[in-house]
Amino acid sequence: MNHKLARKLMYVLILSGIVFAFVLTVIYPGKFKLAMSVGVAISSTGILIGVLFIRCPYCHTGLNLRGFSPDYCPNCGRKI
Ligand SMILES: [Zn+2]
Repeated sequence: MNHKLARKLMYVLILSGIVFAFVLTVIYPGKFKLAMSVGVAISSTGILIGVLFIRCPYCHTGLNLRGFSPDYCPNCGRKI
């Protein structure tokens, strides 16, 4: 998986987790804790993917998880 795809996937999963928790809470107000647990689990998976796969393909240094991917690796300076 390249870092651009991983970044998209990370954002999608984090957002899905929040939306999922919100929607479940609206539909089942009594299941607030369950809804939050599921939402947090989905979002955490997104963050985990980010930490594991948003890396420079050359030196494997972790890139900034927030915002957009840089054009050049901050560690080795190669175009990524
Ligand atoms: Zn690098």
